[in-house]
Amino acid sequence: MTMTGPTITLVHGDITEQHADVLVNAANSSLLGGGGVDGAIHRRGGPEILAACRALRASHYGKGLQTGQAVATTAGRLHAEHVIHTVGPVWSRTQDRSALLASCYQESLRVASELGARTVAFPAISTGVYGWPLDDGARVAVRTVREAARPPVTEVRFVLFDEEVYARFDEALNA
Ligand code: ADP
Repeated sequence: MTMTGPTITLVHGDITEQHADVLVNAANSSLLGGGGVDGAIHRRGGPEILAACRALRASHYGKGLQTGQAVATTAGRLHAEHVIHTVGPVWSRTQDRSALLASCYQESLRVASELGARTVAFPAISTGVYGWPLDDGARVAVRTVREAARPPVTEVRFVLFDEEVYARFDEALNA
């Protein structure tokens, strides 16, 4: 960790193939799995992750995890210590929900730090089914991670499945 913040890297690929202390999941509030990156993480990570999510629902999140919040579970069979589940906001034309999107990155990094994580991999939260414009989603992600990452987190990796999403993150990082 230097005074200038974490090392931020971009990877074009599938987050479930990454090795990191923490893999972040763009979950939905039910915590019970879904499509997109959420489905991939549960498929590749195995039933242990879903079991941990169900236990969290029962103990703390009976009404689901709120948008912008983050919570950690085992990473099951994934090459990580933990999965951190965060619920991105659905894009709205009429309402500025960017503080909630920033909160996903902030809260995930806060939980990661508490867990002692050094390397954290993020997908592009809300840019899939939740419809967030890619350029803005990339800008919020890069800006927030630069501001919010704190020790022991020293590397933040954005793992971007689509070429188009990768290109927008590359622009935001090098702007
Ligand atoms: P959301 O509901 O937050 O929009 P999605 O999973 O639909 O979540 O999409 C979020 C981003 O994750 C999109 O940019 C999508 O292309 C990407 N994505 C989907 N599968 C994977 C994966 N296996 N690894 C990394 N990113 C993925």
